[in-house]
Amino acid sequence: MRSIYNRLKTQMADAQGAAAPVKTLRGAAADQMLASFETLGLGGFWSTDGEGRISYLSPGLVRPLVHDDDARGEDFLGLFASPRPGIDGQRTMPFVFARKGKFERVIARSIAGNTETFWQISGEPIATGDSGFNGFRGHILDVTSDRQNAEEASQMATTDALTGLSNRRAMSVLLERTVSAFAPQRRACAVLLIDLDRFKQVNDTLGHAVGDALLKQVAQRLIRVVGDRERIFRLGGDEFQVIVPDVDDRGRLGDLAGSIISSLSEPYTIETNRCTIGTSVGIAVSPYDGETADDIVRNADLALYAAKHSGRGRYRFYSRELLETAEQRRHLEETMHDALANGEFQLLYQPLVKAETGVVVGTEALIRWNHPESGLISPAVFIPIAEDSQMICRIGEWVLRQACEDAIKWPAGTRVAVNVSPIQFADPSFPKLVSMVLNATGLDPDRLELEITESVFLQESAATDAMFKTLKGLGVRLVLDDFGTGYSSLAYLKTAPFDKIKIDQSFVRGATSNADRNRAIIAAIVTLAEALDMETIAEGVESFDQLTMVRELKIGHVQGYLYSRPVPVEDLFKDVDAADWKIEASGPARQRHERRAMYRTIGVIHEDHYYPVMLRNLSASGALIEGLIDVPLGTRLMIDLGDGQFELATVVRTRESHQGLGFDRELVSDGNGGLCTRHRFLAHHLAAAGVPRNADEFQTKQASMLANGIISLPRFSVVARNSDGQRKRS
Ligand code: C2E
Ligand code: CA
Ligand code: CA
Repeated sequence: MRSIYNRLKTQMADAQGAAAPVKTLRGAAADQMLASFETLGLGGFWSTDGEGRISYLSPGLVRPLVHDDDARGEDFLGLFASPRPGIDGQRTMPFVFARKGKFERVIARSIAGNTETFWQISGEPIATGDSGFNGFRGHILDVTSDRQNAEEASQMATTDALTGLSNRRAMSVLLERTVSAFAPQRRACAVLLIDLDRFKQVNDTLGHAVGDALLKQVAQRLIRVVGDRERIFRLGGDEFQVIVPDVDDRGRLGDLAGSIISSLSEPYTIETNRCTIGTSVGIAVSPYDGETADDIVRNADLALYAAKHSGRGRYRFYSRELLETAEQRRHLEETMHDALANGEFQLLYQPLVKAETGVVVGTEALIRWNHPESGLISPAVFIPIAEDSQMICRIGEWVLRQACEDAIKWPAGTRVAVNVSPIQFADPSFPKLVSMVLNATGLDPDRLELEITESVFLQESAATDAMFKTLKGLGVRLVLDDFGTGYSSLAYLKTAPFDKIKIDQSFVRGATSNADRNRAIIAAIVTLAEALDMETIAEGVESFDQLTMVRELKIGHVQGYLYSRPVPVEDLFKDVDAADWKIEASGPARQRHERRAMYRTIGVIHEDHYYPVMLRNLSASGALIEGLIDVPLGTRLMIDLGDGQFELATVVRTRESHQGLGFDRELVSDGNGGLCTRHRFLAHHLAAAGVPRNADEFQTKQASMLANGIISLPRFSVVARNSDGQRKRS
């Protein structure tokens, strides 16, 4: 469509043309025509001088645009709000003005008080004689209402243009409607929130066109797995959602999530590219996990977050404990900002020793947070939070400074290793920080080791390569941390200039038995490292059998409790004599196998009694409980596993205070290595049935119910435990 300006201009040109028709607009007639154009609200005219100062502005426009009645001499661009980067696009008024060429239909905003007006502006340069540019002249039109209509129209749209699936808006409407329609009959509605892992990497490395094609294929696969495309939504980016009405069975929901994960994890072919991505799924079910659409989506989101953080490619059901973790996370995040200023962070140092001799060659700096309310917090808890909230760079800077300041006082040649988060590593100003700290402290760069995990390779490779080069250029040493945990590709070792490989403790732990394949893998790593002139170190060595293995496998260095735990800086040199810094290994001969006995209190309901018992073992088909005396074989019990999870069971084995139970229905995976019941009861159902919220509550109630003759004496006696775990009869 041509602008009014252009149409008008053509008319003017026609009117002035050589073969002028009988009625030409000239002089007063033209003036009148223009004047009525202006007064009819069809837009106005403007012109500026060569410096961009207003030389004409249609009177009707003066009021919404300028305070003064006479705008002449004011800066034309100054009438408009400055463009918003990323929102307003490239073709802005300052941009077209600077080019001094003709422009059409550029959108600009003016703001007066709290009303925002949108203008569509066209113009062309005024050239007079040889003097070249002499300002602009053009047309301007208020398009605020058009824009509002367009915006409303797009907000009404319910389809995602890329995949053709319904969008977030459609999802909210449907979920809201379903949840409220289902509420009176307590019908269930499940929400599966789906997020792709490593999608950003595909998008960044292979380009947006490939990313878009991938998302389309994801949508197709979801339709194939779920069946009903009406229940699948693309929420935006790489987030999808599935709504499953009338299903509360977590066995079925887990199966569906599992099928989605395996389908989306199959390789994709896009033009000539082949790529794979992973998927995480969070699941929440109304009314058990929330009564409103908002609550359900929020809780599915918490479950998704947990799924992503407990190793990707998993599904996870929402549970109340996730909310508690989320609250703790929020609390830590809020207090983290002041923790640096308040000096609540502390560095501990753990010696790194030569495997053959026990001579200390350096230490690793490990951060601790002495939280004023929560006590000592492990970095495994707060570092991920710091990484999510961008605090990691400030904390990392503090660690680096503190470690270098401490290390400069140590015997020459003793190195200090500092952990570097992938987020710091992706920050282009990181090398500058390192060299600044080295200069400020005077530490020899060769004494500083930066420990980096493999996850840095997941970022854009050109930037990663450049970062490696720059850091190596500073003379610092680079260590590949946690080797053997993640994506572990030996290919990294060939391309990245590491000085040392640190073999992760999980690898060391599994490798003491000769049959273990970890051992063969470590042997291969050591051989490769030797060939590439890299040192090796084994982490988490706790026992002499592990140390023996480390020596047999010719791993050069060791770090672990067998030599020393991480200690405060002032304790590092406590037992050191001047000559050399050497530590004697001391610890258990063999690796202790952690006995993972389960001590969780659950409830058992028999007749009208509720007994608290200890859950000693749980499998899908049954449980071992402890705490009731002399329960006959074949006794029928209702088991309360908490959070509304009840299952009927029969006593299949019994010996004094231990009973083996067989469940009527098998439990299902909770997506996190644990088990859960398929179905759940709601709190108000339980209350109506007289089931307590917890064992304490029941015991208080039970006593009064007994006293009032509402219930009879309990059938079984209970073995209670003292606080120190000793059994006592009651
Ligand atoms: P990491 O880099 O793998 O550090 C080694 C962890 O193993 C440390 O846990 C250390 O205390 C522990 N460890 C050492 N020897 C043994 C042993 O013999 N047995 C056992 N069971 N554990 C041992 P820590 O200090 O809790 O740190 C946990 C993780 O937090 C570190 O894992 C590292 O990834 C991160 N972290 C610690 N300090 C920093 C820091 O300053 N910056 C960053 N970005 N991350 C840090
Ligand atoms: Ca480390
Ligand atoms: Ca590690």
